[in-house]
Amino acid sequence: MTARTAGAALDELVAQLRNELGDSGVLTGADVTARSCDPFLDVPPAAPALLRPRTTAEVSRIMQLCHAANVPVVLHGGRTGVAGGAHATAAELVISLERMNRIVEVDPIGGTMTVEAGLAIETVQQEAEKHGLFYPIDLGSKGSATVGGTIATNAGGNRVIRWGMTRQNVLGLEAVLADGTVLDLQNRFLKNNTGYDLKQLFIGSEGTLGIVCKAVLRLVAKPQTQKVALVSLDSYNSVLDLLGRARALQQLSAFEVMWQDYYAIVAGDPARRVLDPQAQFFVLIEVMGNDEAADEAAFSGLLERAFEDGLLTDAVLATSGKQADDLWRVREGSEILVREMGPFISFDISVDIRRADEFVGKVRAALAQTFGFYRSVAFGHLGDSNIHIGVHLGPDTRERGHAIECCVYGVLKGFGGALTAEHGIGTMKREFLPHHISANALTTMKHVRQALDPVRLLNRNVLFES
Ligand SMILES: Cc1cc2nc3c(=O)[nH]c(=O)nc-3n(C[C@H](O)[C@H](O)[C@H](O)COP(=O)(O)OP(=O)(O)OC[C@H]3O[C@@H](n4cnc5c(N)ncnc54)[C@H](O)[C@@H]3O)c2cc1C
Repeated sequence: MTARTAGAALDELVAQLRNELGDSGVLTGADVTARSCDPFLDVPPAAPALLRPRTTAEVSRIMQLCHAANVPVVLHGGRTGVAGGAHATAAELVISLERMNRIVEVDPIGGTMTVEAGLAIETVQQEAEKHGLFYPIDLGSKGSATVGGTIATNAGGNRVIRWGMTRQNVLGLEAVLADGTVLDLQNRFLKNNTGYDLKQLFIGSEGTLGIVCKAVLRLVAKPQTQKVALVSLDSYNSVLDLLGRARALQQLSAFEVMWQDYYAIVAGDPARRVLDPQAQFFVLIEVMGNDEAADEAAFSGLLERAFEDGLLTDAVLATSGKQADDLWRVREGSEILVREMGPFISFDISVDIRRADEFVGKVRAALAQTFGFYRSVAFGHLGDSNIHIGVHLGPDTRERGHAIECCVYGVLKGFGGALTAEHGIGTMKREFLPHHISANALTTMKHVRQALDPVRLLNRNVLFES
C-alpha cells in the first residue's frame, strides 16, 4: 500500500469510528496534540486520532474495526506512566479510557469494588473510605493514574511492604482482546481455582495482551490509626538494622529511604527541610493499625530503642494528619526533582536490600569513571527492594543518555537485580529486556503475545520488538 492509500484507509477508518462513537468520541488535530503522553516530558501523541469510548461494547467495536483495517492502537489511562508505554506514533490510533470512569458496585461485606478502568486511583480510595474500607495501592500520581493503567503496569507504590502490588489487590477484570473479543474474568472471590487464573496475564502486561475495561478490586478494612516519622541515620547498616526492627511490627505500612543526595535537593524547599540535610540517610516510616494506644506504644517504642541503640541521629514524628501528609511530601518531591535535575534519566530497579547501598556506590563510581562530572539522586521503596536513581542529563551528558543506561544496567547485571521494579519496560527499556531475563522466558513471553495478539495491534512498540 502506498503512503497515500494508507493515509486514505486511515481516514476512512477514523470516519467509521466517528460514526460509531459520535463526534465527542473522536478527537483529532490540536485536541490530540495538546496532550502529553508522558508526565515528565512533553511528548504529544503523533496519532491522527484519539478515541474516547464510553463502554466495553464500544472498545470492542473499535478493536473489531482496527483489526479488520490492520491499524494498531496505543492505550491511554492517566498518562502518568514513566516508561514511555503511552507514547504514540503517527501510524497508531490512541484509545483513551477517560470516559470509562464509573463505579459499578461496592460490596462492603465481600470487600470488593467493581469499577471501570478509567477511574482514578484517588477516587477509588475516596469511595472505599465512605464504606469504612481501604484500597491499599497508593502512589504519588494517584490523582491521575487510573485503575487500568495501574493494572497494565502492575503498579506498586508506597504500601507494597504491607499489602503487595496491584497484582495482589485485583480479584478480577474484563478485557477486550486485539480482535474485539470481550473476555469476562470478573471474579469476585478470594478463592477461585477454576482453571488458569487468566486475569494475572493482563496484570503487568503493559497493554500488550488486552485492553482492561473493568476491574474487581479487593478492599481491606480501613486502618484507624496512622503514625509517620522521618528519621536520619549515618550509616547504611543502621538503615538495615532499623528495617529489620520495623518489619517486626505487624502494623508497618511503609519504609521509604532517601539517600543524602536526594534529600539535599528536596530540602531546598524550606517546607520540606525538616531534618539537617547533612545526614547520610533519611527514612520515612509509617505504621497503620486499629488501636491508638497499642500502635502509639509500638511505634514510639521502635523509635526510642533505635535512638538508644545509636541508630538514629534525629527524628521528627507527625502529631496530626496534616503533619503526616507534610512528611510524605518530603518523600514525594518529584516536582522538585524535575525542576532541579531535569532533564534526567530515571531508573527503577530492584536489588537485594542488603546490597542496595553497595549498588548505589558502584553506580556512582561507574558514572564518575565513564563521564567524569554527573549528578544523581537515589531514593525509593527500600522495604520492597526497590530503588529509584535519577541521573541528570547535563550539557556534558545529554547526548550520552544511552551510554548512561548501559552503564547503570551493566552494574545492575552484576548484582542480579531486576531491570524494572514497578514502572515496567514500556518503550524505554525494551532494548535491555533480553539481557535481564532468560532466553526461554523471553521466548515464552513472545508465544503468549503471539497467541493473544498475532498481528501486534495493541501497544506494538511496548515490551519487545518482535
Ligand atoms: C509523580 C509520580 C509518582 C509515581 N509513583 C509511582 C509509584 O510509587 N509506583 C508505581 O508503580 N508507579 C508510579 N508512577 C508511575 C505511574 O503513575 C504508574 O505507572 C501508573 O500505573 C500509570 O497509570 P496511568 O493510568 O497513568 O497509565 P498510563 O501512563 O496512561 O499508561 C501506562 C501503560 O499502561 C497502558 N494502559 C493504560 N491503560 C490501560 C488499559 N485500560 N488497559 C491496558 N493497558 C493500559 C498504557 O498503554 C501504558 O503502556 C508515578 C508516576 C508519577 C508521575
